[in-house]
Amino acid sequence: MALHNRIVLLGPPGSGKGTQGAILAERMGIQEISAGELLRAEARTDSDLGREVASYINEGRLVPSELIVHLMKQAFLAPENSNGFISDGFPRSVEQAEILHEMEEGPEFNGKKIDLVLLIDVPDDYILQRILGRTQCATCGTFYHDTFKPTKVAGVCDVCGGKEFAKRADDTEETVVSRLRIYREATAPLIPYYENKGLLVRVDGTGPIDAVSERIKEIVKY
Ligand code: AMP
Repeated sequence: MALHNRIVLLGPPGSGKGTQGAILAERMGIQEISAGELLRAEARTDSDLGREVASYINEGRLVPSELIVHLMKQAFLAPENSNGFISDGFPRSVEQAEILHEMEEGPEFNGKKIDLVLLIDVPDDYILQRILGRTQCATCGTFYHDTFKPTKVAGVCDVCGGKEFAKRADDTEETVVSRLRIYREATAPLIPYYENKGLLVRVDGTGPIDAVSERIKEIVKY
């Protein structure tokens, strides 16, 4: 049994939350719940809500909290996640953390609370390089990076053999600058917030993907 199994990943855009979250979840046999992926799925639906969500994402702004809280609560309480989960990208503001805290106090959560907040630390000059090189298999969604995580065979997805790749609509230089500003203003205050609760642990997010995973393994002790 791992030391921690209800884990929040915190860190600026491009810090590797999605990559490390997926590795950690697979190794621990639990699911990664990605707030951004849930919202992108909503944005793909041909509905008024979908279009509204897409406009927030494409401008790099945070969607209103009630919307993401609803989606995350459903995922946290899903029976298949009762043994734990990795939350990537939620909470993303003190307001959301306080809503989560209230939910955890309620009967539905049955005393099960977030037990670790892992802050993936990377210097600013990493971020742009990491984000701008990012591509995603259009078929199965696996993420790659031109320099740091290329496909084994050029132009072919390692996982599903797909040959079409896409960039995230919000992975442009302009949007990254806005996402970083919002990270500093809205999300970074979560660092002292969770430090005060004794839940925050920092991990160095620089270097090869495997090296970062090993550092995380030492902390989570799975
Ligand atoms: P990500 O995939 O984590 O980089 O998130 C992509 C985008 O989804 C963000 O830039 C926001 O527009 C939106 N988003 C993701 N998580 C949240 C959240 N917890 N609260 C509000 N908006 C979010």
